[in-house]
Amino acid sequence: MSSSPVEILQSTFGYKSFRPMQGEIVDHIIAGDSALVILPTGRGKSICFQIPALCLEGLTIVVSPLIALMTDQVTALKELGVAAECIHSGLSIEEKRRINDMIQDGKLKMLYMAPESLLQGRFLSFLRSVKVSLLAIDEAHCISVWGNDFRPEYTKLGMLRQQIPNVPMIALTATADSATQQDILHQLGMPDTKMFLGSFERRNLTIRASAGQDRFSKILRFLCRFKNEVGIIYCLSRKGVESLSNKLKEAGYQSAYYHAGMNSISRNRVQQRFQNDEIKIVCATIAFGMGIDKSNVRFVIHYNLPKNIEGYYQEIGRAGRDGLDSECLLFYSWADKMRLQQFMDDGEGNPTFKRVQTEKLDRMWECATAASCRTNLILNYFGEFRAAGCGHCDNCLNPPKVFDGTIIAQKALSAVYRTGQKVKMDILIDVLRGSSRQEVIAQNYHEIKTYGAGRNLPFLDWKDYITQLLNQGLLAIEYTQGSALKTTPLSMGVLTGNQKVDLVKFEKSKATDKKINKGQLVRDELFEKLRQWRLTTAKARGIPAYAVFNDATLQEIVQAKPIVVDDLLMIDGIGVKKKGDYGDKVLEVIRDYLLNQNHKKSIKGKTYLETLKLVNQGKNPNQIANERNIQLLTVYNHIGSLYEKGESIDLHQYVAPDICETISQKWEELNKPRDLKPVHEALNGKYPYHQIRLGISWAKRRYR
Ligand code: ADP
Ligand code: ZN
Repeated sequence: MSSSPVEILQSTFGYKSFRPMQGEIVDHIIAGDSALVILPTGRGKSICFQIPALCLEGLTIVVSPLIALMTDQVTALKELGVAAECIHSGLSIEEKRRINDMIQDGKLKMLYMAPESLLQGRFLSFLRSVKVSLLAIDEAHCISVWGNDFRPEYTKLGMLRQQIPNVPMIALTATADSATQQDILHQLGMPDTKMFLGSFERRNLTIRASAGQDRFSKILRFLCRFKNEVGIIYCLSRKGVESLSNKLKEAGYQSAYYHAGMNSISRNRVQQRFQNDEIKIVCATIAFGMGIDKSNVRFVIHYNLPKNIEGYYQEIGRAGRDGLDSECLLFYSWADKMRLQQFMDDGEGNPTFKRVQTEKLDRMWECATAASCRTNLILNYFGEFRAAGCGHCDNCLNPPKVFDGTIIAQKALSAVYRTGQKVKMDILIDVLRGSSRQEVIAQNYHEIKTYGAGRNLPFLDWKDYITQLLNQGLLAIEYTQGSALKTTPLSMGVLTGNQKVDLVKFEKSKATDKKINKGQLVRDELFEKLRQWRLTTAKARGIPAYAVFNDATLQEIVQAKPIVVDDLLMIDGIGVKKKGDYGDKVLEVIRDYLLNQNHKKSIKGKTYLETLKLVNQGKNPNQIANERNIQLLTVYNHIGSLYEKGESIDLHQYVAPDICETISQKWEELNKPRDLKPVHEALNGKYPYHQIRLGISWAKRRYR
């Protein structure tokens, strides 16, 4: 082993340190053991096999279900200078041969492939002739029917254990309840394998839910805070995504739609343009996203209620993978819930399967309508229990205001009762509000006692409160009878005045409240300039923008404003390779920006750049000091500091090489003092201070 895992993390990936669990998992794998890793999306699962792959001798095989997902990772790895390839059906024979040669010559470190290509007999026997150091099974939940994305071709992976024995295996997934976890281990033939289960909490995601009325204007209000940002809006139907996307376009957003009914060329185009930030908002059915490895998604909106929490959590997991604050907005309505229930009832599957689906839908509904911490509700679902609120969901941020809603409840229940338990919600509300709509009058509902008893409340408020009554079990909906509202055994207590009802105050704008907190994005001019540069660079290289740098890296650059190459290495996401590839260009952008700033308050680093600019124009330190109206020694200080940090300046034009050597030796002899004076004195004042200054810089850079 040449470098340690941390060294590889820093030099190749450019990250300062491991995230929780990563280091532990990497050590475990390098020691030759297998593992099942369950970490939420965005927590950095890839590192868990990529670093062992680079530490271990031989080839690491990565199994992944989608070509798009694989090619993205391979592109990113190549950008880091890692020998990685991906085999898929779209490759030409020559390309496949080239990859095979690389494997045979021991030059390839990582090979990504779909299970069906891996399990071809010919390929397996070829693999037995080379050294395979590790097998990584990504999206491992696909192997289990208990999971939420079962793929039959995954089940055959069980035979790998016999075909390539004694190779450690790492299976990874972001979504597996405990039944699925056990099933993965069982099917992969690794029953006693150590499991690494990370917390599912995503602290940078703010989760909000909102009643589904008036969705489009709520979305527009929400989007005001995400100008120029990238996001996904999930809808249930194809028609829904198309119309929403068109409406957004009309409202001036760069939006596109994506669904399974489009041909693969159009779908790929949307995906590609989204990857490159050319499309800001994609309105999609659930078909979109699994192949997306995009780290700067700032928001995910669910226009319709998802069918289970697994799916929902996976979809919102596509937001904020770079760790920066992101928002999730979930709309819910009874109509959606009923529609999903209908799909399930009409769909395939035995009664048990349908019952499980229905239960999952009920849990999703609870999550959407909860008045308590939503994150906790989700964590509980995945077997992680906790009492304290998360602090980053709407209910934690703005605890709902509860009031005595007994009278409202009584009016609604009584209206249900008096209309004969056969009207649906909209008509019931019309009755309550005293509407003279034809359906109301024709049935003589205007003659019942509660007609008009609820005039004081707007329609949407009623809708929300009736939904709450449904959630509390005080009303039910009969799907089989035109979605009629019915009373329940609990209703009587309320009607007789024996039971109080608490309701949560309906607030129309809840979904769009602005909350500013930590980690908020700095979106200033420099960020925009860097982003522009990134887009151009990515296009020229034919890679997605995030493969150049992700948003978190750009943001750190904006905050640190490094002005010399070496300082770039301090930024998370910049390793040696990226520094070499992009360092100069990035500095150019920053320098250009700094030099053109006329801020009253001085910007750190700007004065160095002004000196450097004059040095590069061939001016000598005296001229620079005069022109800039600063001390001569300050000019030398600037030159020295820049040189120390790797700036290419010919230092010997100011101090001859032998003098540098003499000063350098004396400085070391004296144990590298900070001040110039001891060195000056030890050399009997023979060299002026500015030479001492630069001599020490010369020594520092040499011993860097
Ligand atoms: P997952 O597969 O778990 O969804 P990824 O492996 O795609 O997550 O990583 C998510 C993001 O986090 C990527 O942008 C990745 O580069 C970044 N990342 C991973 N590990 C670290 C780390 N130790 N320090 C900083 N960023 C990291
Ligand atoms: Zn919470």
